[in-house]
Amino acid sequence: MVERLGEPLAESIFEELAIIGVGLIGSSIARAARRRHAAQRIVLADQSVGVLERAKALGLGDLVTDDLARAVSHADCVILCVPIGAYEAIARAIAPALRPGAIVTDVGSVKGAVIAALKPALPAQARLVPAHPVAGTEYSGPDAGFATLFINRWCILTPPEGTDETAVEKVRGFWEALGSHVETMSAGHHDLVLAITSHVPHLIAYNLVGAAADLEEVTQSEVIKFSAGGFRDSTRIAASDPTMWRDVFLHNKDAVLEMLGRFNEDLTALQRMIRRGDGDGLFHLFTRTRAIRLGIVAEGQDTAAPDFGRHATDSDEPPP
Ligand code: NAP
Repeated sequence: MVERLGEPLAESIFEELAIIGVGLIGSSIARAARRRHAAQRIVLADQSVGVLERAKALGLGDLVTDDLARAVSHADCVILCVPIGAYEAIARAIAPALRPGAIVTDVGSVKGAVIAALKPALPAQARLVPAHPVAGTEYSGPDAGFATLFINRWCILTPPEGTDETAVEKVRGFWEALGSHVETMSAGHHDLVLAITSHVPHLIAYNLVGAAADLEEVTQSEVIKFSAGGFRDSTRIAASDPTMWRDVFLHNKDAVLEMLGRFNEDLTALQRMIRRGDGDGLFHLFTRTRAIRLGIVAEGQDTAAPDFGRHATDSDEPPP
């Protein structure tokens, strides 16, 4: 499995790439695009003064500004890397300054609502190619980003019908240059798939950790002290950015509620198996779920290394 970005491209994909939102994802794109020379110039914009200062100090772009219109005015590609709730206002702010035919793309974790927010706000000649890199961590901000974040991860493109094919191919080439595998599907299908693979698991983690914290007969210190593997993994997910995840649930309401309905039905079936002492039923389900985990490891989407907050080692020395 390749874990390194390749050599810089002989010919950049974009002349000028404007990245709006220089957090985990935006700063990772800036780092990777620079390393691969995927754009000749990189312009960074953000609303936060602290973030802009860090972006400058880290040397992430050729120009760093809080002026969104200025940031996009020479760009042949603009990529939104902000929480989804901010999309519409940003689209309205940049629309008058966009170059004719500029590609506007994004990284948002929901796609139907993103198209609904962006399409009416952008000029007709802007070429909208929504994208979602299925890669991330529970950290936020420009210091959390890293250039190899997208290697061997999937990036899903959801171009609305009638989108210019050249624009779609450019965005595909860009993500491939950053090390991703690219797949195209409808926004609706994306939202349903991600509801079950990403959004509902986050909701369950938020709920589980919240429920443990609310238990009156268990103190907070016991929750922390005796946290076992499954709970500890959930706390990692439940540490994800509150603004980003609030926006994901508000903007993928239908698909999340549909998948939660199915989840509740299956949970009721599990409850029944436990009540009735149906060991065979439990065993069969756990065998099927283990096969899914093995499939994810076989596809290179995770490693098989044990990780329960302890790194397996034969040495008495602490891990590096
Ligand atoms: P992040 O680290 O919090 O960065 C977002 C940045 O955007 C922050 O610096 C924020 O500034 C800035 N921002 C917010 N509203 C803005 C506005 N109106 N104008 C200019 N800048 C603004 O978030 P992230 O994790 O990179 O997530 C960004 C997007 O990536 C989200 O849409 C998310 O759905 C998507 N995504 C995230 C992951 C993940 O694992 N994190 C994975 C795939 C896709 P403030 O701090 O001042 O708000």
